[in-house]
Amino acid sequence: MLNIRSLRKQFGSHEVLRGIDLTVNQGDVVVILGPSGSGKTTLLRSINFLEPADTGTIELDSELIEIATASKSEIRSIRKQTGFVFQNYNLFANKTAEQNITEGLIYGLGLSKTEAKTIAQNVLEKVGLREFAYHYPSQLSGGQQQRVGIARAIAAEPKVLLFDEPTSALDPELVGDILAIMKSLAKAGKTMVVVTHEMGFAKEVASEVVFMDGGVIVEQGRPEDIFEFPKEERTQQFLARIL
Ligand code: ATP
Repeated sequence: MLNIRSLRKQFGSHEVLRGIDLTVNQGDVVVILGPSGSGKTTLLRSINFLEPADTGTIELDSELIEIATASKSEIRSIRKQTGFVFQNYNLFANKTAEQNITEGLIYGLGLSKTEAKTIAQNVLEKVGLREFAYHYPSQLSGGQQQRVGIARAIAAEPKVLLFDEPTSALDPELVGDILAIMKSLAKAGKTMVVVTHEMGFAKEVASEVVFMDGGVIVEQGRPEDIFEFPKEERTQQFLARIL
């Protein structure tokens, strides 16, 4: 469904992604692990052109995009088909929970206000925030704000959901709620790519674990193989430090 080939990205002279090949099949939950600075967030952001890579290709279903020459309409198309959940929620402070969701549906997808409102109510219900539709971000806890972030990402039923360390800004007691919502999305068959340090989630929910270091994928496989029998020394060292 999602095929990334030979992806490269430099910031100045620092090559942050050094030839990434990654395939994500429909219904997969791919968890990306790796030390700080290994390029995980940059990879995730490059998939929907939040941080366009320099070269390589991205293919989503049958649409093949050459990154270096991607047109505005190709970028718009891939953004419509992906939902992004940010570490720091990225909600508009001056808009209610509901408006944070309807905005993209109205101005991005061209839905009517009524259609967008109905969808927003449905997704807010899904994340347990039906009563908070008219609250502003400042009136919500971090966990609630992230639930709005997830509701916004799933509202347009994108083909792929991209999560960038969705729980790392949260107080520990709120992490479980968000992981539970992500787990239920996985169970419902959503295709997900998740950058996280939550090893429990990776072990329990991932269909595939990808270990990155120094801008390359060092090793990837099923969670039981990666966690129990990592082949590469760098993976072994990383897991020994965090498990
Ligand atoms: P972490 O787990 O700490 O979030 P990461 O694996 O997600 O790390 P990235 O955020 O992708 O790593 O960053 C990879 C490298 O690219 C780092 O060295 C970082 O400093 C650098 N980098 C990221 N964004 C930029 C930018 N906009 N300008 C310059 N350098 C950047």
